Amino acid sequence: MRLGTTAVVLGGSAAGLCTAGALAPHFDQVLVLERDELPAEAEHRRGVPQSKHPHFLLNSGRRAIGALFPGFEDDLIAAGGLHLMPSMDAAYLDGEGWSARKRGTMTMIYSSRILIERVLRDKVRGLANVVIREGVAVNGLTVRGGGTPGGEVTGVDFSTSDGDEHIDADFVVDTMGRGSSVGGWLVAAGWPEPEVQTLDAKVTYTSRWYDLPSPAERPPSWWWRHLVIMPTPDKGEHPAEHEFLVNFFPIEGDRAIACMGSWGIEMPRTTDAFLESARRVRTPLFAGAMDRCAPTSEVHLTRSTGNKWRRYDKLRTPPKGLVFVGDSICAFNPFYAQGISSAAGSALLLREHLDRADRLDARFSARFLVAQRRLLSVPWRLAMARDQGYECAVGTEKPPEWRRRVLAAVSGPAFSLIVGAAREDAVVDEHFAKVFNLDESLGDMLRNPRVLWGLARYRVRAALGRHRVPFGFDPRADPPATDYSPESAAPAPAAAR
Ligand SMILES: Cc1cc2nc3c(=O)[nH]c(=O)nc-3n(C[C@H](O)[C@H](O)[C@H](O)COP(=O)(O)OP(=O)(O)OC[C@H]3O[C@@H](n4cnc5c(N)ncnc54)[C@H](O)[C@@H]3O)c2cc1C
Repeated sequence: MRLGTTAVVLGGSAAGLCTAGALAPHFDQVLVLERDELPAEAEHRRGVPQSKHPHFLLNSGRRAIGALFPGFEDDLIAAGGLHLMPSMDAAYLDGEGWSARKRGTMTMIYSSRILIERVLRDKVRGLANVVIREGVAVNGLTVRGGGTPGGEVTGVDFSTSDGDEHIDADFVVDTMGRGSSVGGWLVAAGWPEPEVQTLDAKVTYTSRWYDLPSPAERPPSWWWRHLVIMPTPDKGEHPAEHEFLVNFFPIEGDRAIACMGSWGIEMPRTTDAFLESARRVRTPLFAGAMDRCAPTSEVHLTRSTGNKWRRYDKLRTPPKGLVFVGDSICAFNPFYAQGISSAAGSALLLREHLDRADRLDARFSARFLVAQRRLLSVPWRLAMARDQGYECAVGTEKPPEWRRRVLAAVSGPAFSLIVGAAREDAVVDEHFAKVFNLDESLGDMLRNPRVLWGLARYRVRAALGRHRVPFGFDPRADPPATDYSPESAAPAPAAAR
């Protein structure tokens, strides 16, 4: 059902594109206003500097995007995305050593962030009533009755290279990312300042892009497609690099992004420092892989990674005709790979609300904000469960020191217990994959009696030294290529074999 003439989306990145797909069935025209000139191909651009770093697309996000744009997954794979099974295709090193390879329940599509966005852009460009205006900067909203119960957003001011323009809008969605100014514009128009929850765990990413050698040039021990090195829980003397989260992340076009990240540690920003650091991580495999590849970029460093939730849902009289999707409302520590999936989930939720609505009154925005709060609280709590344990973290959500210490002491062993049980127990593995992919909350998983039983059983078996699947292979040696899958395990996707 058509709910209005014009909807305007502020920003044309992942959240903006998903939102355009959600709005298209319900408005005569949807206008996306984007400050950058958008490339035809998969290329970096100024407004999305994080595209230089690896982006996991979680399965909840992949499904939400697929619901908004049928065929998205096939198009991403056709454009070069790699459909892999991480438990078979990733060499995974944690505090115990290398994990055994085995088939699991989870598959993922690996690609660069710029390819995800290009495929999304192509989908949006195929929608007849959506227009993307590039190279235009949104610089204000027009409102009526700001801050009052009937207060509403009525249009958008923006500037182009030819001068200032205005468009009247029945509905506006802010998708301008972490740095969005919309909150400030609302305050200037009479709405109260929204509460902002923050927790910045001082995460820094440093990444460099590489061309992979051809399969013939790789040693036989290079069976893996993705390399993951988890930070060590070691207490004694060790190089800072042992506390890095390291990825050698495969993307389209026989390329990979070598990425090191840390919580609160200074990271290398020159190519020499990057290579020196790489040699100090816990396995020689990472630097050794880079030595066999050809670098194609400089080193890129990003610090803009704090968790930040603007609580528009708590405004007593939220503006009619305006909602928020993506980082503009809730941005996460990227280590948990939740940003695009949460944005796509919000966009799909918006479409479901639009499908059910007969008009866009103040209650529509309020109801959507409440439903969106429920959706966002799942990834938010997951991020808090880890980041609140870090001493370096700062923000409104920093817990008292005694609680932080308890969290820091409990979260590492709890994570290891879940990982260990998931290795041996298909049901725990399935729920753990669901939590990682935002298909289930951590609380729901930990309340599930079958999961609790699986954890307890693993604990007892581990205490008796009776492990079903080997683990803890020597980090200095190559990760074992043996497939330890039980007979009944799911087949790997074709590209993974
Ligand atoms: C280092 C790093 C790694 C990450 N890894 C992952 C990951 O593995 N998985 C994952 O899901 N997420 C990851 N994320 C998060 C992910 O990048 C974001 O959640 C996602 O890009 C959100 O998209 P968005 O559209 O809300 O905002 P953005 O991508 O920031 O886009 C905002 C858009 O608005 C435009 N804009 C801004 N101001 C204006 C204006 N005034 N007028 C017009 N246009 C404007 C910008 O040009 C831009 O196109 C990572 C983030 C970082 C920093």
